[in-house]
Amino acid sequence: MKRLFGIDSWKIVETDLHREDFRLAESITSLGNGHMGMRGNFEETYTGDFHRGSYIAGVWFPDKTRVGWWKNGYPHYFGKVINSTNFIGIKVFVDGEELDLNKAEVKDYYRELDMQHGVLIRKFTVIQDGKETEVEAIRFLSVADKELAAIKYSVTAKNYNGNVTFVPYLDGDVRNEDSNYDEDFWYEISRDASEHNGSLVMKTKDNPFGTPTFQVATTMQTVVDGNVAKVEVSEKEEYVENVIEVKAEQGQTVTLYKYIAVTTDRDYEAGDLVSKGREVLARSVEKGFDQLLEEHRNGWLSRWEIADVEIAGDDEAQQGIRFNLFQLFSTYYGEDSRLNIGPKGFTGEKYGGATYWDTEAYAIPLYLSTAESEVARNLLIYRHNQLDGAYHNAKQQGLNGALYPMVTFTGVECHNEWEITFEEIHRNGAIAYAIYNYVNYTGDQDYLHEYGIDVLAGISRFWADRVHFSKSKNVYMMHGVTGPNEYENNVNNNWYTNTIAVWTLRYTLEVIESLKQNGHEARLAGLEFSDDELAKWQHIIEKMYFPYDEEKGVFVQHDTFLDKDLMTVDELSAEDRPINQNWSWDKILRSCFIKQADVLQGLYFFNHEFTEEEKRRNFEFYEPMTVHESSLSPSIHAVLAAELGMEEKAYEMYNRTARLDLDNYNNDTEDGLHITSMTGAWLGIVQGFAGMRTAEGTLSFAPFIPKAWNQYSFNIIYRDHYIKVEVNQENVVLTQQGPELAMKLYGEEVTIPAEGELTVKLK
Ligand code: BGC
Repeated sequence: MKRLFGIDSWKIVETDLHREDFRLAESITSLGNGHMGMRGNFEETYTGDFHRGSYIAGVWFPDKTRVGWWKNGYPHYFGKVINSTNFIGIKVFVDGEELDLNKAEVKDYYRELDMQHGVLIRKFTVIQDGKETEVEAIRFLSVADKELAAIKYSVTAKNYNGNVTFVPYLDGDVRNEDSNYDEDFWYEISRDASEHNGSLVMKTKDNPFGTPTFQVATTMQTVVDGNVAKVEVSEKEEYVENVIEVKAEQGQTVTLYKYIAVTTDRDYEAGDLVSKGREVLARSVEKGFDQLLEEHRNGWLSRWEIADVEIAGDDEAQQGIRFNLFQLFSTYYGEDSRLNIGPKGFTGEKYGGATYWDTEAYAIPLYLSTAESEVARNLLIYRHNQLDGAYHNAKQQGLNGALYPMVTFTGVECHNEWEITFEEIHRNGAIAYAIYNYVNYTGDQDYLHEYGIDVLAGISRFWADRVHFSKSKNVYMMHGVTGPNEYENNVNNNWYTNTIAVWTLRYTLEVIESLKQNGHEARLAGLEFSDDELAKWQHIIEKMYFPYDEEKGVFVQHDTFLDKDLMTVDELSAEDRPINQNWSWDKILRSCFIKQADVLQGLYFFNHEFTEEEKRRNFEFYEPMTVHESSLSPSIHAVLAAELGMEEKAYEMYNRTARLDLDNYNNDTEDGLHITSMTGAWLGIVQGFAGMRTAEGTLSFAPFIPKAWNQYSFNIIYRDHYIKVEVNQENVVLTQQGPELAMKLYGEEVTIPAEGELTVKLK
């Protein structure tokens, strides 16, 4: 655990320059606006260790697979969201000496991420040759005008008269640190520099895999507030700059405004990119920094109006959830249906920035409640659009049906570790589950015949082929899988995988039946289900094997799990943890320690199908062996612990998920933030503490409040209702806009009047 930033309910504030933890601080101060994003890199030169990273949504490159030993069926490339033109750069010189916070004496250092308004602010004083220079740098990536980034960079000569030189530049010579062959993914198409202007058009290199290439234009325009002595321009391959010399009198502040537009051929004809960028810049310069900032701030304020979760009495918890929501929405706010949510968003390179099952399992529930239903629907359609890729993946494994990938941009699998690519197939079930979750939450049955049934059919056909019938045991089984717990591979009969496979078959049969009854026979005919096929699915449902231990009364994670040397996490020493950084992989695989919810993931998804006793026994058995070394883990445990009345555990798990990156729990935040688990704190509060469930078409709550909190509140959109939930130490208050709503509170049927309120005593 490591905390670099102070506690504040709306801000992330750093008052020391953490040169030794620079990458960690950069991850945490990342900014994004859905179209583009970046780590908290400095504008001015920094010669210490850091990770330059600016990423553009949907712009990726197929990096040729690198493995020690090729296995048939491996994907040929790993798709990566790639580091792109560094557009924030501004070199600063005072009387010819370059400002570099790694070398200079720095005092009054201050960096603030203002989450309420989406702004990054830095202030510090640098002392070089006795000259004191005060700097204030403010930047934002506009949520009002997506292609725009704006920087206000002010320099005050504290104790001297001198020359301040600003060198705003665009640098396309950037690499991915994780490039498999140390390759440069870009080449220059064109560049141009003139006084106060510059542009650079870069294109991703052609590739042998037939995936699309992308062109990105970065254009800049600068405005100076100060006494400009001269402006020069210069350029070289993949680089353009302006050199702007400004006279500064003692005590005077000179300011450079740098406006940048990032346009891509995802949105425009390649030949128009620079002119489109210039249009963005022209309207931005016309408005000026303050107005642009105002429009951007208002954009964030209206996001918070719907999505904010307020916690009274616990600023750490409050800061945690706001940080989560801020970083999640910086990555994805549902405006571009071609996009999905990468595990690191725009904050790092790990995981390739692609689509994982994380979206369906962890992100869709939040978007269902905090955005128009269109957003979740688009995320589902994204997968429908990739169905061909999923069929291709199954075929690669010699199987029928559709296998959704672990990592992808197109539907085609990119992951290349056999134990994940070939074995971690539970991911397929999450895609089906998300359809159920969406339809159940929104009531949008049309989705099923418009799109959903194609996906369900493909996934079910895959499961039906992937199971095998054991003649000796007279049951269906599934061998050679990796469950959500990636700390064990090639296991047989992972309870969770068997469960979600059978659930998918059952759900698909139900959907087929309901489509039949609702006049969609022709649609079904197109999918050519035969009686034999459906009978086989039914047979699998009836005869699937689920490992269960009578004595312990628990679902067994997989066939031989109980033969392991079972022990609890308490028995590990501090030096052992995280085990993935301190143990050999072999030791991890043989141990009983669980990376993330596995059996418990099933109890979470299919919550209403299990008794409280079943949930309790399994939670008490598995959680003590769980190291939560996947960021996805604590939230599921927070929800289940809350349901089981394990208040302390729920609170501990909430804090762990809410502050996972802020406190660097898993010692890996320097690689980037855990964006897809940024929904965890919200799940912990809404589904955990407030106990929200929507199973079987009924909304229900069963709230409790942690002792440390005075009150918490949040809003949800549920069908045609906009509901505010407030929980304090005495009462639960539900206020809604919308028609009368019949729902359940603590298991009792209640009604919130139209446009009305309901208050009940907290239980
Ligand atoms: C987890 C996976 C997850 C991936 C991306 C891994 O560490 O085990 O479940 O999909 O990270 O977040």
